Amino acid sequence: MPEAKETVLEIDLGALAHNYRYLRSKIDKEVKFLSVVKAFAYGNDSVIIARKLEELGTDYFAVAYVEEGVHLRKNGITKPILVLHPQFTHFEEIIENCLEPNIYSEKILRSFIQTAERLKQKDYPVHIKFNTGLNRLGFDDHEVQLVRKLTAETSTIKIASVFSHLAASEDWKERDFTVGQIDLFRKMTWELIKDMDREPLLHICNTSGVINYPKAAFSMVRSGIGLYGFGNDKTVDPYLRPVSTLKTIISQIRKLDKGDTVGYNRSFKVEKPTRIATLPVGHADGINRIYGNGRAGVYINGSYAPIAGNVCMDIIMVDVTGIDCHEGDEVIVFGGPHHPVKFAEAGGTISYELITGIQRRVTRKVIPE
Ligand SMILES: *Cc1c(COP(=O)(O)O)cnc(C)c1O
Repeated sequence: MPEAKETVLEIDLGALAHNYRYLRSKIDKEVKFLSVVKAFAYGNDSVIIARKLEELGTDYFAVAYVEEGVHLRKNGITKPILVLHPQFTHFEEIIENCLEPNIYSEKILRSFIQTAERLKQKDYPVHIKFNTGLNRLGFDDHEVQLVRKLTAETSTIKIASVFSHLAASEDWKERDFTVGQIDLFRKMTWELIKDMDREPLLHICNTSGVINYPKAAFSMVRSGIGLYGFGNDKTVDPYLRPVSTLKTIISQIRKLDKGDTVGYNRSFKVEKPTRIATLPVGHADGINRIYGNGRAGVYINGSYAPIAGNVCMDIIMVDVTGIDCHEGDEVIVFGGPHHPVKFAEAGGTISYELITGIQRRVTRKVIPE
C-alpha cells in the first residue's frame, strides 16, 4: 500500500507537455500559441507551469491581474505577457515590468496613452479587446472608429494584437451564436486595421474554440483549461491528461456503531458497523462544503470512499467500511484514473472551479516530464 506524508498537489509536467502538443496539433504551424497562466496557472503553480511552457515553445502568456504578471517576471519568465484585466492604477507597473495590457474601454485606452507618454514610451505593445457578445470586457462595434482615431494619433503605443472572447465555444447548441461572434470579430478587426501597414496578431479562440472552431484560429489562439488537461467535453477529455492530482493521507481510522454520528452538526448518522477515516484536507484547502455528505468521495487503494458528514476547515472524514486500508495510507482525492471532472460534477461545478480553488497552503510537488 502506498504510504503518503501529507496533502500534496502533484503537477505532472509530462501531462502538460502532452496537452500542449495535442492542442498545437489542432492548428497550423504558423499560428502562435498563447498559454493562459492566470490564477496561479489554474491552481497549479504559475512559475513552474510557465517555465515548462517556455521550454515547450509557447509564444505568449496571459494572466488576469498585474501582480500575476509581475510574479512571473520576478521569476525569470521572458516571453511576452498579456494582462487580461488591468486597471488604470496599474499602468506604470505594467510598463516597468514589460507587461502588455488588454485595452478594453475608452477610459483605459486614454489613460494608458497618458501614462505611456509620461514615461516617454514609443510603440509600447497593447492588445485591443472587442466585445462580440460575451458582454464582459471590450469595445463595442460602434467604438471601433474611436479606437482607430485614438491609436492612430499617438506613437507611444502600437497595437500588438486585436482579440475577442467566445461566450459558448464548448456548446454545440450555441454554434450559430459563436459563428456570429467570429464574423463580428472579423468585421470589427477589418475596420480597425485596414489601413495599417503591419497587421497585428488576431485571436478569438480559447481551448474549446481551438477544438471546435480551428478554422477561426486567426494568427494566435489562447488556451488555458486544455493545457491543464480538460476539453470541456467528454469526447475530448480522453485525448488530454489532467496535470494535477490531489493526494492526501489517512491520519486516523475508527470503528463506529449504530447510533454514533460523524462530524459537525452530526450530519452523518451511523446505521451499521462502520469504519471512518480522517484525512487532512478541508474547505480551506479548496474542498468546499458542497462536496460533503456523500456528494463526492476519494479513492483509497483503488476503492471509492464517500465523504461522511460535513467538510471541516482542515479535515474530511470518509467512509472506508469494507476497504482494506490503514493509517498512513495514500488517498487520491482526484486525479489520475479518478477524473477531476467527475469530482467537480459531484459538487455541481466544473473543472475550472475545482482546480483553481486548491489553496496555496497545499504543497505542490512537481513530477518532471
Ligand atoms: C481565461 C481566458 C482564456 C482561457 O480560456 P480556456 O477556456 O481556459 O482555454 C482565454 N481568453 C480569455 C480572455 C480568458 O479570460
